[in-house]
Amino acid sequence: MQQLLCPSCHHSIDAKNINVAANIAKCTDRNTIFKISELIVDIKFPENPEPPAGSKIMFNKENDNRYSFLLSN
Ligand SMILES: [Zn+2]
Repeated sequence: MQQLLCPSCHHSIDAKNINVAANIAKCTDRNTIFKISELIVDIKFPENPEPPAGSKIMFNKENDNRYSFLLSN
């Protein structure tokens, strides 16, 4: 689930108040106009994420002790 939040008051912004073509969004709480790029994107992940059944997570060690991972079927 993904929500766009007002950067000023952190209220969620309804889709009808977002104009993608004009790159603006309106917070109805204070009638404030923002650029879409200024909004806070709030993505909620499940608390115990599990890969879809039948897939594997492959970890790849990269330089500087960093890891990347791939989901494969
Ligand atoms: Zn607001």
